[in-house]
Amino acid sequence: MHRIYLDNNATTPVLPEVFEAMRPYFGDQFGNASSIHSHGQQTRAAVEDARESVAALIGCRASEIVFTSGGTEADNLAIAGLARAGDHVITSGIEHHAVLLACRHLEEIGAELTVLPVDGRGLVDPGDVRRALRPNTKLISVMMANNEIGVLQPVEDIGKIAAEAGVCFHTDAVQAAGKVAIDGNRIGCHALSISGHKIHAPQGVGALFVRKGTRLQPLFYGGRHERSRRAGTENVPGIVGLGKAARLAKQALDRGDDKKMAALRDRLQQGILAHVDEAGVNGDGAARVPNTANLRFDHIDGEALVIALDLKGLAVSTGAACSSGAIEASHVLLAMGLRPDQARASIRFSLGKQTTAEDIEIALALVPETVARLREISPSYKRQAISI
Ligand code: PLP
Repeated sequence: MHRIYLDNNATTPVLPEVFEAMRPYFGDQFGNASSIHSHGQQTRAAVEDARESVAALIGCRASEIVFTSGGTEADNLAIAGLARAGDHVITSGIEHHAVLLACRHLEEIGAELTVLPVDGRGLVDPGDVRRALRPNTKLISVMMANNEIGVLQPVEDIGKIAAEAGVCFHTDAVQAAGKVAIDGNRIGCHALSISGHKIHAPQGVGALFVRKGTRLQPLFYGGRHERSRRAGTENVPGIVGLGKAARLAKQALDRGDDKKMAALRDRLQQGILAHVDEAGVNGDGAARVPNTANLRFDHIDGEALVIALDLKGLAVSTGAACSSGAIEASHVLLAMGLRPDQARASIRFSLGKQTTAEDIEIALALVPETVARLREISPSYKRQAISI
């Protein structure tokens, strides 16, 4: 069976070029990047080269990049590193749990927390951010692109509000990196998180941009790695992979590959909606990253649709990977005002660099017929059909 993978917001396959770039660092190039002998110097050079590539992808200086074990650690480092007990922190209700739960933990240890609502499109109102400011506000953390709906937040406006108020601004750009151009200076953020495995690098590596001059409390105590911002021997193969993937992502954005991906996503979305009634796009009306379509199919159970499509060779998701298998509805969709049954009837399609036009045509053939079959056994769909 030809399997089609449309769950690239959960994770992406490592590109062959990325794998090849990493390979020597599992073999001859094994040195500890902190060692002063030539083994160490070689890996140090590779780490610094990767740092340049990551900096180029997000529009900052190489010295402002801190390598981490992934997006979760980058988010936690930003939140625990920039605010503490007694400070006030502002975030949104649609953040990834790496941000939301890190903020909740801060609240538990004595910080004040404001969790902002979003509108029906999944957008934070910058006016709400301004109104939430308090004399002790230390940090605003609002994501750049949401992992479930792909909606892009008004981060530049929020950055301006933060700058005027003299407050730190962190943005989780894990789902934006490589999909839209990022310019850390234009956003005006003090910290920005990215993750390797969302941009075709391996799992378990990421980075946090920390603006020069920003005081950051480290999460770990140990060696003086990463300019004392993140202790621990660097994951050289992972960092090299992240650097290569960042370089390829930047080249692809410069070529305009994002427009091709948006065209494929739009074809998928429009084709499905043309053949399925009582369906809609979550996040419609807002700017979105080019690879994501979160669709709602009323009267069906999203988990059942994911399983039925998987049996036919199509991998999609009900939203955040960690919530698959759990019964509770997505906090993102609920925050947007969907009813729990509508949230549970929603499916995320997310494309990657490997997605082809043929994949989209196959998905277009599979989804409407599978939804129709599930609706045949749906009590709420039947009830409605009888009452018509
Ligand atoms: N932030 C967002 C928006 C994400 O989508 C994810 C992963 O799904 C993370 C953070 C966590 O990244 P990682 O899996 O690298 O820890």
